[in-house]
Amino acid sequence: MKRIATCTCGGLRAICQGDPLKVSLCHCLECQKRTGSTYGIAAFYDRARVRIEGASKSWSRQADSGFPVNLHFCPDCGSTVFWEPLRKPDAIAIGVGSFADPGFPAPTQAVYDQYRHFWVRPLE
Ligand SMILES: [Zn+2]
Ligand SMILES: [Zn+2]
Repeated sequence: MKRIATCTCGGLRAICQGDPLKVSLCHCLECQKRTGSTYGIAAFYDRARVRIEGASKSWSRQADSGFPVNLHFCPDCGSTVFWEPLRKPDAIAIGVGSFADPGFPAPTQAVYDQYRHFWVRPLE
């Protein structure tokens, strides 16, 4: 099975084979900034199962793990579609919203609960 994540304008695409290794919901402030929403959800894939198409620009930030995270976004519309956590070089993270698929597998973990907005329910 194949799923395609895209930026808002469609110029940057991540074509993903099979199911993600893990889907993780993150309440951290960096994810809030990245999404403009109150949490982010990442689908982690084996790098070998993802093909990137289209131009991207990247920006790097230091994660709490001490390793950098390289975020890749569309140079035209600015949406971040995927990022590379250098702590796990074999994995690539894709923003679940970029799939625009309400049937996408649900997150199985939530992290940085201390930054969860008070009205957001904890993951069951
Ligand atoms: Zn775009
Ligand atoms: Zn986060």
